[in-house]
Amino acid sequence: MNNKLYGNLIFELSKPGRKGYSLPACPFGEATLPEHLRRGTDAELPECDELTVVRHYTNLSANNFGVDNGFYPLGSCTMKYNPVIDEETAALKEFAGLHPQQPAATCQGALEVYYNLQRSLAALTGLSEFTLNPYAGAHGELTGLMVIRAYHERNGQTQRVKVIVPDSAHGTNPASAAVCGLEIVEVKSTADGIVDVDDLRGLLDDSIAAMMMTNPNTLGLFERQIPEIAKLVHECGALMYYDGANLNPMLGACRPGDMGFDVMHINLHKTFATPHGGGGPGSGPVGVRKGMEDLLPSPKVVKTDSGYDIVGTDGAINVSRFLGNFAVIVRAYTYILSLGRENVRMVGPLSTLNANYIKESLKDVYLLPIDGLCKHEFVFDGLKDKSTGVTTMDVAKRLLDYGYHAPTIYFPLLFHESLMIEPTESESLDTIDEFIGVMRRIAEEAATDPELVKGAPHSTPIGRVDDVLAAKHPILTYRQLKQDQ
Ligand SMILES: *Cc1c(COP(=O)(O)O)cnc(C)c1O
Repeated sequence: MNNKLYGNLIFELSKPGRKGYSLPACPFGEATLPEHLRRGTDAELPECDELTVVRHYTNLSANNFGVDNGFYPLGSCTMKYNPVIDEETAALKEFAGLHPQQPAATCQGALEVYYNLQRSLAALTGLSEFTLNPYAGAHGELTGLMVIRAYHERNGQTQRVKVIVPDSAHGTNPASAAVCGLEIVEVKSTADGIVDVDDLRGLLDDSIAAMMMTNPNTLGLFERQIPEIAKLVHECGALMYYDGANLNPMLGACRPGDMGFDVMHINLHKTFATPHGGGGPGSGPVGVRKGMEDLLPSPKVVKTDSGYDIVGTDGAINVSRFLGNFAVIVRAYTYILSLGRENVRMVGPLSTLNANYIKESLKDVYLLPIDGLCKHEFVFDGLKDKSTGVTTMDVAKRLLDYGYHAPTIYFPLLFHESLMIEPTESESLDTIDEFIGVMRRIAEEAATDPELVKGAPHSTPIGRVDDVLAAKHPILTYRQLKQDQ
């Protein structure tokens, strides 16, 4: 915060009688609200002049950190650059001004974008057809599992009520299965971090509905046994579900459809731009292999002789009344078109190269529990030298002092000091080299001046927060803050 005054809470800047607006005289008589609708006391609102309000919020916004401020290597979140052109197309008034209940004849261009993105995703993943209706990755998982349930029900296999999930899976996988009314069976990982096929074999029977997998998995490792896993799962009559939230490493390298997956979701807000985090906005399209298209939820966009139409609002599965988060769809389509067929194929190799370059450049000072080639991300188990007492939390906080967003920490739960780094394909060699330099410098500081790292951050508006206190005694309102003082 540049200026102390404007950095206060807006309530502390309030002076009775100040105001930042001027309204024209009301041309109508004053309305009287019925007694029971009136408030007992006046609302406690801050009273400030306009410039004070502008400076207050502008300064607050400068405390935020985003991909547009600096490197954001948050593993499993794919914080790639969101090009400005994506925002421009999403904001075109012909898109932004649409009403979800507009007749199809009046929004043919928008339906064409929806339809074409469905086709692009099918081509990129090797699946047959997609719906873009789900609003997030987790919503896509739920949709996909509902499709799988409907598939088994159609085949009279109603006893298939269990989903196999690896112990390294993203937390939403078991959560979505539970919400869908399915039971979760966990399959173990081997010592080198991939699915233990022998353990899997013992779990397969006719109560299994599906196997949910992320590949590369949450450790950034490619599941080398995927053809064998798909064969075993299919032989037992179950389906393969692919969590494609972070599809980066796949683009241009391989396709889930070719690996034997039957159903999948993609997070458009991770793989195909759209700024995300803090709860939105998102889009989790779901794709299915040939023969399962009719199980996808409605409404659907179809191509007709004269253009495009919206059909079937009474499908068996309905996860959204309308056609999804359209602005995210426009951004994703723009991202794909602006890269073009050739460059989209570079996303996988480049994000993989960037991650491996960082891993190899740091593994002499940070502990790499599972060595070998990673895909778009990898996990360190804290600093290599454990004698300093400097933890992953300390390293993450110290990174803030150097102007970086911290990587994902303490996830996955397979290691005590997980530090999960995902650079994405967006970053230049210069940025990555500088980050490596800073990570090495922090390792050096940990060795020579551990208290400096343990006390970090030193340069942020708020220093080290007390996580336990913040969780157990959160101060959520101004009134509470006042009482506590
Ligand atoms: C982010 C993520 C999800 C969940 O996506 P949301 O849009 O946050 O619901 C699921 N699986 C993986 C692997 C993810 O990284």
